[in-house]
Amino acid sequence: MSLKARIEAGIRQSGPLSVAQYMTACLHDPQDGYYATRPRLGALGDFITAPMVSQMFGELVGLWCAETWIRLGRPNEVAWVEVGPGDGTLIADALRAVRAAAPDFLAAARLWLVETSAPLRDVQRTRLQDAPAGARWIGALDELSSDAPMILIANEVLDCLPARQFVRTAQGWAERMVGLDEEGRLVFGLASRPLDRVMPDAAPGEVVEVSPAQEAFGAEIGVRVARQGGAALLIDYGRGTPGVGDTLQALRGHQKVPPLDDPGAADLTVHADFPAVLAAARAEGAATAPLATQRDWLLRLGVQARADALARARPDRADAIARQLDRLIGEDEMGELFKAACIHGAGLNPPGFDGEATDG
Ligand code: SAH
Repeated sequence: MSLKARIEAGIRQSGPLSVAQYMTACLHDPQDGYYATRPRLGALGDFITAPMVSQMFGELVGLWCAETWIRLGRPNEVAWVEVGPGDGTLIADALRAVRAAAPDFLAAARLWLVETSAPLRDVQRTRLQDAPAGARWIGALDELSSDAPMILIANEVLDCLPARQFVRTAQGWAERMVGLDEEGRLVFGLASRPLDRVMPDAAPGEVVEVSPAQEAFGAEIGVRVARQGGAALLIDYGRGTPGVGDTLQALRGHQKVPPLDDPGAADLTVHADFPAVLAAARAEGAATAPLATQRDWLLRLGVQARADALARARPDRADAIARQLDRLIGEDEMGELFKAACIHGAGLNPPGFDGEATDG
């Protein structure tokens, strides 16, 4: 039975699903979920991410990790964690950069890759054949069995952690649910719900998203860095202030498709809710840096100098490199919508977030 048929049968039996439950089924159903069975990243796949746009992205993330380790006081051992490594491009570029520029950091780092998707783990293992000895794959952050300070990176991971959606109606708030129409097809509907939190101001018809999974991720990181020390860099598209709006989106072959059409066949995302993620981390005793746009963060880390150096080395590719840079930092491209957040232990001044030039 297809995932769609199984979801429909489940709703007939047990009632409508929240948008978060629907997302989880579409992404992680063991037989047919998108990430569980057919994640297609890259130019020929369904979506492209910053590390696939240019090697500069992963290199600067790697140098950020090394500089963070220096600012932590060069601990002898550090848990270097990437959550959701995708096809491994980001960590491969980061490893290359730190091998050349920061071998002491690499010697202290124990690499942990957190990946739920079995097919992506295989892609990562192939790509990372020269990974430092002892690199380990785990399925969730709570399997990280290290008490060393942690340096964690996660690019475009928050957006695949599911959200619930609430709609302001004339009668109050209702939850947006996935149910069945009279012909038995998947449709969105509403269910009235008591709310356990304060909602932002919204006009009738407006949608507010709440992601317990994103908040739990922020809290889990907060607990770790408050206890073990360290820092986590989360980069994603999303909102920088609490706000309204339906951001549920299905992408297939780089095109937006209706999210209910073909469960499991498309990548399904929502915007990262940075204010909620950071608040959840602070509630666990961690510190958080002011949010930066991807543009500002990359510029502070020296992306312009890196682009210039690459173009000098390959004058034949100068135009392509300039286009890649614009894609990463352009205000109408990834520069403004994408944001960098940092959750860190007390007393650390993480590079790229202070508004001042850093030497990273
Ligand atoms: N970071 C990569 C890939 C982003 S795609 C890049 O920038 O190119 C999202 C990644 O998160 C995939 O590797 C996916 O399998 C992983 N992922 C999805 N849900 C996850 C979860 N709940 N826990 C950990 N990883 C998850």
